[in-house]
This record gives sequence, C-alpha cells and structure tokens, in this order.
Amino acid sequence: MSIRQLSETVIDQIAAGEVVERPASVVKELVENALDAGATRIDIVTAGGGKSLMRITDDGTGIAVGDLPLAVRRHCTSKLLDDLHAIETLGFRGEALPSIGSVAKLSLRSRQAGASDAHEILVHAGQVDGPRPAALSRGTVVEVRDLFHAVPARLKFLKSEKAEAAAITDVIRRIAIAFPDVRFSLAGSDRTETVFEAASPIRRIGAVVGQDFADNSLAIDAAREDVRIEGFAGLPSFSRGNAQFQYIYVNGRPVKDRLLLSALRGAYADVMARDRHPIAVLFITIDPRAVDINVHPAKADVRFRDPGLVRGLIVGAIRETLARAGLRGSTEGAA
Ligand code: ADP
Ligand code: MG
Repeated sequence: MSIRQLSETVIDQIAAGEVVERPASVVKELVENALDAGATRIDIVTAGGGKSLMRITDDGTGIAVGDLPLAVRRHCTSKLLDDLHAIETLGFRGEALPSIGSVAKLSLRSRQAGASDAHEILVHAGQVDGPRPAALSRGTVVEVRDLFHAVPARLKFLKSEKAEAAAITDVIRRIAIAFPDVRFSLAGSDRTETVFEAASPIRRIGAVVGQDFADNSLAIDAAREDVRIEGFAGLPSFSRGNAQFQYIYVNGRPVKDRLLLSALRGAYADVMARDRHPIAVLFITIDPRAVDINVHPAKADVRFRDPGLVRGLIVGAIRETLARAGLRGSTEGAA
C-alpha cells in the first residue's frame, strides 16, 4: 500500500493556503466571526503589520467552554445550514480557526453571556491545548501570533510590515461600511488608532471614504428584474490614481469581484482617463439563489446566475445618473 491519508495538521495547512493568504485575511475572518456573534464593539490590535500579532476583542455572544475545542476543529460551525443559498452569517465553512491554528499560534479566550467564568484554548501549529479557566468579563478575545511560523516558506511571500498593515486597514474599512452600527477600533504598531464610531450608514461612508465624498458623488438607485443597486458613485472629476476606493457589497458582504469592478470601470470608460479610477460605494441586493458566494474560500469572488444582467444594471445605472446630472453626453459619450 502506498496511498495514505494526510494528517489532520497537513490537511489544515493546505486549507490555510486558501483561507489565510496574509495577515489581512486573518483579520477579515476574525472580525467576521465577531460580527456573526452579534458584537457591537470590535477592537483590533496588530503588531508588525499583523505578522507578529493580531488581537481581536469583541463583545459578542461568546463561546461556551464545551464548544471551544469544536471552534478550532475543521468543518465545525455553529452556523450550519442545510441550504447554502440561505446563509445569513458571514462565515459558514468552519475553516478559519483550524486553518489559522495550523499556521500560527492561536489563542481563543471567551466567556459566554451568563457563564460564571471564562476559558481559554490554545492551538500551536495544529496542537490543541486546553480549554482551561481564564479571566475575561465578556465576549471573546482571539489572539494570533507569529503567523506562518509553522510554515516558514510562506513567510517570504508576505510584503513589508507597512504594506501588510495597509491591507489590514483596507479590510476594516470595507467591513466598516457594511456594519455602520458597530464600533470598530484599529491600532497598529505605529501608535495611531483608527476609530469608526457607531453611526448612520451615510455617516459611516463619510468616515471611511472621506467627508468630501458626499459633495462629490451622486446617489445611485436602480433595479432590473430582481437585482437592485444602491449607493453612491463619485463624480468623474473626483477620481483617484488607484482603484482602492471602490467598495462593492453583494447582499451586505464586501466583495472584490472582477465582474463587478470591471462593470464599474466600464460605466466611467468614456468620462475618465485610463489611468484614473472612480470612487464608489455600491450595494447590490439580489435573490440569494441567483448568486453563489461560495466559489472562493475568502468569499471575495462571487458567481452570478446572470452576469450580463448585473453588469448591465451597474453600467446603465451609473451612466444614466451621470447623464442626468449633465456630466455625460448621451450614448455618444464624452469623446
Ligand atoms: P465559521 O465562522 O465558518 O463557523 P470559524 O472557524 O471561523 O468557522 O469559527 C468556528 C466557530 O467558532 C464559529 O461557528 C463560532 O461558533 C465560533 N466562534 C469563532 N469566533 C467567535 C467569536 N468571536 N464569538 C463567538 N463565537 C465564535
Ligand atoms: Mg468564521
């Protein structure tokens, strides 16, 4: 016999290759878990661009002591659903924590609402230790240290501390727009702290994208069949040198989907120089059965049943809005 089954740790490390690309992907998974736990306040602390430390503290429901070992076990989730299309939580794969624990030092400290005390469980390179009693008044604290220490080959694919820290900030900004009533704070090793106080959706967009965006954008609201697009599209004159300020959400989830980004680009194609990029915040609402959010482990890409419909709606809605504001000629464009 020469065929053998891979060890659990190796299986988790392979899965981690898809879920955990860089520190920002860890922060994304952990913040999503906090949101799924109903947190109203999430504090993120990082050191070394997240390479040496990421600590996420939330005031959510917490995890029962008996559930702690399951939380770090593969394919174990409290969000289980029989219908993959009816998912209302951000997570559902039960992969993030075991993946992170297989390539870093993970600690999970939690106290469930109403529980008399808190407990902690540790996972180092796949080895689970605990749970044992710990001190915490409420919620959950997840700490990840020395990302990829267990798989050094992957360490060298990480960028500078500054670049990794910037990617973490980007993740928080994208999530913050989708959850305006949650307070977020983000502190890195440079001693600066970014805080997004709980706010109305409009004020949160202003806090993330910049207060001047309100005066330099147009409201978008259009629907075709069962797809709706709402949000704000920046004026062509308010463009940027990179595409970083394009925030797109599908049924409340931040995505970086290629089809959607290219539709946005197409909408501005004839009113913006090639090396300029529009600023936009777009919320797409679509029948969950008409979109698959499960094609990518990090759920950044989505697959639409009718991509042409979605693309046409985005391009059409933005072009018409620009034209109505006199910022764009008729179908001839601004040539
Ligand atoms: P998933 O989010 O797909 O369920 P994860 O590996 O991210 O998988 O988390 C596993 C489980 O651990 C979750 O289903 C949840 O029950 C629990 N969990 C993780 N983080 C938190 C948190 N911050 N607060 C409460 N429960 C959590
Ligand atoms: Mg999760």
